[in-house]
Amino acid sequence: MSPAAVSSPSSTSTGKIHGFAAKGKGQALEPWEYTPRPLGPHDIEIKIDHCGICGSDIHTIDSGWGPTSYPVIVGHEIIGRIVSKGDAVTDKQIGDLVGVGAQAFACHQSDCPNCSRGHDVHCPRSVFTYNQRYEDGELSQGGYAEAVRVDSTYAFKVPASLDPREAAPLMCAGTTVFTPLLHYKIKAGDRVGVVGIGGLGHLALQFARALGSKVTAFTSSEAKRAECQKLGAQHVVNINDPEQVKAAASSLDYLVVTNNSKNVDWNSLISYMDVYGQIILLAIPETELVLKPSSLLHRNIGISGSLIGGVQEVQQTLEFAAKHNVRPLIEEMPMHKVNEGIERVRSGKVRYRVVLSNPQ
Ligand SMILES: [Zn+2]
Ligand SMILES: [Zn+2]
Repeated sequence: MSPAAVSSPSSTSTGKIHGFAAKGKGQALEPWEYTPRPLGPHDIEIKIDHCGICGSDIHTIDSGWGPTSYPVIVGHEIIGRIVSKGDAVTDKQIGDLVGVGAQAFACHQSDCPNCSRGHDVHCPRSVFTYNQRYEDGELSQGGYAEAVRVDSTYAFKVPASLDPREAAPLMCAGTTVFTPLLHYKIKAGDRVGVVGIGGLGHLALQFARALGSKVTAFTSSEAKRAECQKLGAQHVVNINDPEQVKAAASSLDYLVVTNNSKNVDWNSLISYMDVYGQIILLAIPETELVLKPSSLLHRNIGISGSLIGGVQEVQQTLEFAAKHNVRPLIEEMPMHKVNEGIERVRSGKVRYRVVLSNPQ
């Protein structure tokens, strides 16, 4: 906490922030309130209008990636308006419509080994939007709530042409898929595959197509074929059809993997890659990868991971999506039905992102 931080209460009516918290592993969320950390000079408070449900939220509720610090309010696809700001915030004003993604703080100091190279996602002092401790010891709390406080650097102005509800999933899902496409400089003509056509995958198809690449969707659901084509896929491969799988061999330069299933067959994913092909892992299955090392070596296949996007990438995601008409398909639900929304995501039936909305 900065020494200049002021201990102002939240601008909510009670000075506390009300939300829906997980209080134990895998439990339904319950109403809960907390006293927000002091509003530092670089911080803002946002009155939340919308928050998307991300798969990471559910992994955190379930302690799937290690022990969660309960109670926790998850949610990191936040859209809302600034209701208060610290004295040092000059580039944003009260009333601005902003979005917050998975990260709420990084140091952005010139002597930081990662911020200084533009890798603020990997800042040693980085704080995720929920379930992480700030240096003052407070736990970060997310967007299934009426308000949130974050460092203003991690609140991004929402382009006017975006519907605020559709902007929500761009904050995490959107930037998570667009960041590696930027990193690998994916361009017109590159052959890009997407495995797992869900919250992330349906956006990956759109971003890849908007970049001019030749897009192939890999799905186990024949029912999604027409929708994949509408989202930008020129080819759709049903992974349950051995003939289609065989025909897709060596057909890709890049493969974006968004499928969290424990049953992903990595050897067949590798078979889709042409020589020097690059597989980009965006999902975090709660398991280990099983694959034949020789299948990578013989054809110079690479596998890399990509976490989220930093400040530059989130900004680029919003601008690119606004300009190229990349739009999440959403199911909107009232915030108080959060547990129903989570069940929709758990069931795999959501098309393709649940966005929770507070009363306007
Ligand atoms: Zn840093
Ligand atoms: Zn997320």
